[in-house]
Amino acid sequence: MSLADTVRRWLDDDAAVIYECRECGTALDSDELMCPFCGSTDVSEYDVR
Ligand SMILES: [Zn+2]
Repeated sequence: MSLADTVRRWLDDDAAVIYECRECGTALDSDELMCPFCGSTDVSEYDVR
């Protein structure tokens, strides 16, 4: 497998997961480890595939 295929697979995986703050329910980006609204680091992941 080429490097480009590997990167593309990572991006596909990323798009299929929704991140949400457990405290206030705000949808977060995949690279946000802390909720910008309430400051919680308790982020849940939902796999929507
Ligand atoms: Zn929050």
